[in-house]
Amino acid sequence: MSEDPRQELRDLAVGLETWVKFQRRLGWLGEPRPQETPTSPPSAQPAKRPTLTEIREEMGDCQRCKLGRGRTNLVFGEGSPQARLMFIGEAPGADEDLQGRPFVGEAGQLLNRMLNNLGLRREEVYIANVVKSRPPSNRDPEPDEAAACLPFLIKQIEAIGPQVIVTLGKIATHHLLKTDVPITKLRGSWQKFRGIRVMPTFHPSYLLRFPKERHKTWEDMQQVMEYLAAHETD
Ligand code: URA
Repeated sequence: MSEDPRQELRDLAVGLETWVKFQRRLGWLGEPRPQETPTSPPSAQPAKRPTLTEIREEMGDCQRCKLGRGRTNLVFGEGSPQARLMFIGEAPGADEDLQGRPFVGEAGQLLNRMLNNLGLRREEVYIANVVKSRPPSNRDPEPDEAAACLPFLIKQIEAIGPQVIVTLGKIATHHLLKTDVPITKLRGSWQKFRGIRVMPTFHPSYLLRFPKERHKTWEDMQQVMEYLAAHETD
């Protein structure tokens, strides 16, 4: 601490500025969304949206489809409940099933590197999958499995209210957008899900197999980052 009161004030100001920047960073570009607090009688309020914790509780030890019997852990999703950016993958693989966390295997390492290169941390975004239990031998989720799980993904989207959703790969894109247009056609072009912007792009597993395609996902993510930067205060 300085003996000069003016220097002390200057030090305090610098400290305060650093703190404010840190807090902004934690909230990642903008104020956290206000919590829903009733201001008028319950009858005038729209139905309260469940929180992520409540959605997870509702899923419980989910056995709504046959995938429940074979999994080690249900992979609900993780990240910031106030994320402005949400990633949706297909289904947990072996590593995710063991750890109960999305995208922690090889594809997840690639996703992490991409986030890193974009200046994002995993904790700032939200990452989930269309289905929450691992399909055997990593096969595609079957229609009944996706149908059983999709309502929970939609609730997660509603609870978070992201500004942008990035769908990773064909399966996530097709199930969320209810389309069968090939991912090679859809990627890089803005779509909408219930008023939310959706950017379909390639799945990291595909990019591990075809590294020459990585620049396309990078370009898709540039569009996403530009949109978010232009709508920081929305
Ligand atoms: N692939 C996915 O689609 N999701 C994961 O969580 C991991 C790999």
